[in-house]
Amino acid sequence: MSVFSLIQELGHQQVLFCADEAVKLRSIIAIHDTTLGPALGGVRFWPYASEEEALIDVLRLSRGMTYKAAISGLNLGGGKAVILGDPLQIKSEALLRRFGQFVESLGGRYITAEDMGVSVRDMEYVRMETTYVTGLPEEMGGSGDPSPITAYGVYLGMKAAWKKLTGTDLLKGVKILVQGLGKVGTALVELLRKENALIYATDLSAAQLEYAQATFGVHPVPPDSWYAQPVDILSPCARGGVLNAETIPHMRCAVIAGSANNQLTDEKADSYRLMDRGILYAPDFLINAGGLINVYTELEGYSRKRALARTEYIYEATLKVLSTAEQRGISPHEAAMQLAEERIRSICTLRTRTLQPSLSLSTA
Ligand code: NAD
Repeated sequence: MSVFSLIQELGHQQVLFCADEAVKLRSIIAIHDTTLGPALGGVRFWPYASEEEALIDVLRLSRGMTYKAAISGLNLGGGKAVILGDPLQIKSEALLRRFGQFVESLGGRYITAEDMGVSVRDMEYVRMETTYVTGLPEEMGGSGDPSPITAYGVYLGMKAAWKKLTGTDLLKGVKILVQGLGKVGTALVELLRKENALIYATDLSAAQLEYAQATFGVHPVPPDSWYAQPVDILSPCARGGVLNAETIPHMRCAVIAGSANNQLTDEKADSYRLMDRGILYAPDFLINAGGLINVYTELEGYSRKRALARTEYIYEATLKVLSTAEQRGISPHEAAMQLAEERIRSICTLRTRTLQPSLSLSTA
């Protein structure tokens, strides 16, 4: 498929190809939609196998950010950037600052942040060339690590899904399995522990699992069969693509609510596979939006209190998505996509209605 047909199919507004051989920079910045606000999304530094792979990644990820921001009620659009190459080989201060200059050249239409292959220190270099950066460390006046807020949002989304299913959002005694005890998974376990949920957990890292056992009393589960455990709620907090044609038929849970991005391998087919199995799925891009809400709050001058208050919206939004899915007879994933599109469309209509200069014809 040609670059232009791909961009047209996914509905992007602008894609900027940036290159500077002197500093070995090859980067693509994709702005998907700015109807609601500036396009925000991290910059990923990755040794892509081909330019095509990098382009497809940045186009898909930036589109995903549009939906995440829209469903979360934020005044942000969707954007993303990728830098092509092995960060261990080519990353330098000059490369990062050159990238910052390209971000600056967009005049605020795109706001960048940290993503895979890019550290907080790297963002300090980007920040030297542009103010359109968010997700900075606390000592630079930023919001710091978003993981605890992301975990809080996942916890609220999980409670909302449990309420939809059972009529109560209390998780006391509910069997919950968390896959991945990293920054988000561990913070989530801590919240679930306070509510006396029965927590099962798995991680590829024995050290992470031992820590969670010793600290929170989680019951360990082998990493290869986590999805087939007989629990009430599964919470994928490790990696994407874990809900698919192979895993879904073996699942014995009632609800899925986790932080991992892109949990559904095939968005449409797998969301309906879950529905057919009677498993209630809380869409990942809705309930893991705490991190985005955190950096959005940073743009206004960070207040943790405000970020937490905004994250609480995830509870209400999850209930709305699940009820809409029920009313329309569609999967929760599809309902979340439709609601996000409806919000964007309504604001777009509002803008064209209220910002059009009126034509006054003189009859004199
Ligand atoms: P992390 O790297 O801190 O933790 C991931 C954990 O998962 C690690 O402990 C790792 O050992 C474990 N893991 C990886 N593969 C596994 C497997 N196959 N089985 C069991 N365990 C496995 O990452 P994180 O920041 O906690 O994020 C977790 C997920 O949530 C990621 O998919 C991330 O993209 C997503 N997410 C994170 C944030 C955030 O604020 N950190 C925001 C939105 C989405």
